[in-house]
Amino acid sequence: MGRHTKIIATMGPAISSAGVVESLVAAGMDVARLNFSHGTHDDHQRYAEWVRQASAALNRPIAILQDIQGPKIRTGSFAGGSVEVNPGDRFRVRAGRGPAHPGQILIEYGYLLDDVNAGDLIVLADGLLRLEVVAKDEDGLTAEAVQSAVVADRSGVAFPRSRLRVGATTEKDRQDLEFGKQLGVDFVAASFVQAGDEIKEVADLAGGSTPVIAKIELAAAYRNLDSIVDVAQGIMVARGDLGVHLPLEQIPAVQRDILARTNQAGLVSITATEMLESMTTSVRPTRAEVTDVANAVLNGTDAVMLSGETAIGKHPVRTVEAMNTICREAEKGPGSTVEASAAFMERHPTFASATAKAAVEAASDLGLGTIVAFTETGNTALLLSKYRPTAEIMAFTPEPSTLRRMALYWGVIPNDFVRLDHTDVMISTAEEILIRMDACADGDGVVMVAGIPPNQRASTNLMKLHTIGEAGAPKDLDLPRH
Ligand code: PGA
Ligand code: MN
Repeated sequence: MGRHTKIIATMGPAISSAGVVESLVAAGMDVARLNFSHGTHDDHQRYAEWVRQASAALNRPIAILQDIQGPKIRTGSFAGGSVEVNPGDRFRVRAGRGPAHPGQILIEYGYLLDDVNAGDLIVLADGLLRLEVVAKDEDGLTAEAVQSAVVADRSGVAFPRSRLRVGATTEKDRQDLEFGKQLGVDFVAASFVQAGDEIKEVADLAGGSTPVIAKIELAAAYRNLDSIVDVAQGIMVARGDLGVHLPLEQIPAVQRDILARTNQAGLVSITATEMLESMTTSVRPTRAEVTDVANAVLNGTDAVMLSGETAIGKHPVRTVEAMNTICREAEKGPGSTVEASAAFMERHPTFASATAKAAVEAASDLGLGTIVAFTETGNTALLLSKYRPTAEIMAFTPEPSTLRRMALYWGVIPNDFVRLDHTDVMISTAEEILIRMDACADGDGVVMVAGIPPNQRASTNLMKLHTIGEAGAPKDLDLPRH
């Protein structure tokens, strides 16, 4: 039995050749994340090419996730490149780019004086430094430091108590999304979104058919999770920025809540940031990190994500290997049951969801190791995945974009398939492929899920309990390589 939880790894300078990407795939990377907060379009194009080469060389579908920077607010520059702040220090805070004079902090946000009030908080230096706004006049804010920290030029700023009028995307994001369309990315992750309508805006800019994953990293996004879940295709618990915008000690409970609600709604769930952070420099993870990854699996996450560990770390391949073994171990043995609160609850049952549910139940009742899904859009595979079968989901699709996207779905093994018009030929062809892959042997029972007539979207309506060997393999078909 393979690993069910999927692994996302971020590309970056540590990924120095096509060979490294191939090693990442061999180690267990399912999805490559292109982080558009860093790097040029040329860099991302190169990573995408390497991912496609590795995917072809190892015959493993790999999805590409484009993560756009979003409207992250930053400080301007300081006279000396940074400023040292001590508790009790008072600063004048204004909108601008800098360099700031001594005693001044500039913030690149034009509505600063409209949206931030006395009593609000300004959080800098990755959450280390809180400044309380003690006064406001027509010329600026006066803020007093609560802790000490060094703040560098253009560091991120959070206003956890303020309501800001930022859009979902910046001019850079719009250019990046246009580029991502040309690149043919499989998913887009939207950063610093606050509500569902913003996801729609990103989805339109991404071309309308690319699924959008909403990164929950603002307090407002967490408050508006229901409206986001209604329109997004996936949710990322973006613990890095969320831990700045919410008190850090709330993150464990918030993570469990977001994962549960995402899974209940049938969307893809991702847990991100600092999962194996120490492996950026160390060859081994800490006990706390191993426990964190395992707990994310038990909380019901579909995928776990590596950021700096693979993008700028010293041991990107070892880190993916570690992630792989931790997930496998977490999925087996006592205590491995995913929390019941994270169980999928179909709010509006359909032929497809009822068929998927019945297939998972049948596989469990009969102790079968494989569920076969024939799918155009990948929706059937995702539904099966969300019912969390112990059986492997062998998903067959003739659609290249579906093939790659399914690499992100928990427990789904994506397989290339020829487009066939007859259900009986589909079944016998799949049987032949499963035997060739050594996934099944003659006489094994499997559950098959399909839509009849074939090749029509959203028509999943058939479950077949099938014994391998029953169909008789067709001899005259040109099958995809497996
Ligand atoms: P980032 O998003 O890596 O783009 O900052 C993830 C997070 O904030 O956790
Ligand atoms: Mn972030």
